[in-house]
Amino acid sequence: MKEGWEAIIGMEIHAQLATETKIFCQCAANFGDEPNANTCPVCLGLPGALPVLNENVINLGAKAALALGLNVNETSIFARKNYFYPDLPKGYQISQYDQPFSSNGELVIMTAERDESGRASEFKPMTIRIERMHLEEDAGKNVHEGLPEVDKYSYIDLNRAGTPLGEIVTAPDFRSSWQAYDYVNHVRRVLQWVGASDADMEKGNLRCEANVSVRKIGEDKFRNKVELKNLNSVRFMQKAIEYEIERQIQAHENGETVSQETRLWDEKNNRTRVMRSKEDAHDYRYFPEPDLQPLKVTAEFIERVKAEMPELPDVMRDRFIADYKISYNDASQLVSDKDLAAFYERAATASNNPRVSANFILSELLRELNNAGKSAADSPVSAENLAELIKTLDAGKINNNQAKEVLTAMFADGKSAAEVIAEKGFEQISDAGAIEKIIDEIIETNQNQVAAYRGGNEKLFGFFVGQTMKASGGKANPKMVNEILKVKLNS
Ligand SMILES: [Zn+2]
Repeated sequence: MKEGWEAIIGMEIHAQLATETKIFCQCAANFGDEPNANTCPVCLGLPGALPVLNENVINLGAKAALALGLNVNETSIFARKNYFYPDLPKGYQISQYDQPFSSNGELVIMTAERDESGRASEFKPMTIRIERMHLEEDAGKNVHEGLPEVDKYSYIDLNRAGTPLGEIVTAPDFRSSWQAYDYVNHVRRVLQWVGASDADMEKGNLRCEANVSVRKIGEDKFRNKVELKNLNSVRFMQKAIEYEIERQIQAHENGETVSQETRLWDEKNNRTRVMRSKEDAHDYRYFPEPDLQPLKVTAEFIERVKAEMPELPDVMRDRFIADYKISYNDASQLVSDKDLAAFYERAATASNNPRVSANFILSELLRELNNAGKSAADSPVSAENLAELIKTLDAGKINNNQAKEVLTAMFADGKSAAEVIAEKGFEQISDAGAIEKIIDEIIETNQNQVAAYRGGNEKLFGFFVGQTMKASGGKANPKMVNEILKVKLNS
């Protein structure tokens, strides 16, 4: 960023809560089914149909709120947000306004700036104020078909109308695109972790918007902000914010006006472009939804949800670092996925070697999983089998390269470590008596070299090691070979 300027960024995330049915009716919350298959008088907005709140929305909403450090409010009020759009048959959206489901959150994320090649500097903690997460229904979806310039036909699919959303709004606390990037990834992972949302941006069940403005360092007023929408991935979002920061600084420096408007990320041309200019604050004429009671949440309910919550990823990461003495980077990677973290913990405990377990999982196993398009949950090598392999390695029965080869074979045909080691004939000879016997024979048949070595030609030591390894078919434990040879040749 140009010196003397700072960026002010606030984030809004819409996360679809992972309920089976919609928020105010019993239609399946499956988007992608046959268009308009999952509809009823309530989500079609037919006159006289009444909404009934889905209890699981409260349950998953509370999980999401607590995992993001928000306070769940004892009373919240549903409100009508009035506007007209073809995908909104009622002419209003049931949302929440001045009394949201949860508010006043503080969330600690880990964030780092990245250089040109995408390499991260040191990750540091940063506290983000989350103003609120309110509950609302989603609208339907317009589908346009025809020429790209002129839509020939427009269809409306109301399967999505009435699916439950949590809208998560932060204070304008971010000062860089990478902070926003790390925040969205944090939220995604936490929502998936507690089971509140699938949080899959590709499927559209997590959508984010960024409000971006810039100002001179030292200014306390905000300048006009731009809203960035339709960001299809976290990476595109980061690029769009970065572009927008530079564009606005340039405009201000040139004495141009930065208009308050909504912009999109144009992936092909790597720039943002105007979607619509913003009329002054929309007047949605919010008013309390007369068809729904105020939502009351008891302290007992919150306690129950808290008791059911799994250990959160950041807490688990710090515990891994403390208990298993692994690095921050390794621990962060292991908790990037809940199943992977559980897999690691089982392997670390069973092998009694948490560090080597982390190495094998993060380098060898993850590579195999990625190649096979599998996740830790359906790994053909169980955590217990991996632990067995690590124990064999620790006992010095096989070396590191052999262990990697064994893991690849275990992955391919689901055999145990012992089976693969036997098949490959990798078992090392670590029986001192057997190694001594081989060495005695080598000394016996190479008397000239023995005399030369004892006469001062120490380079010949390697010759004896080589001969012994050869005679053992490469199976003798090299460390023991060295030790026994030293004793025998120097006596
Ligand atoms: Zn319905």
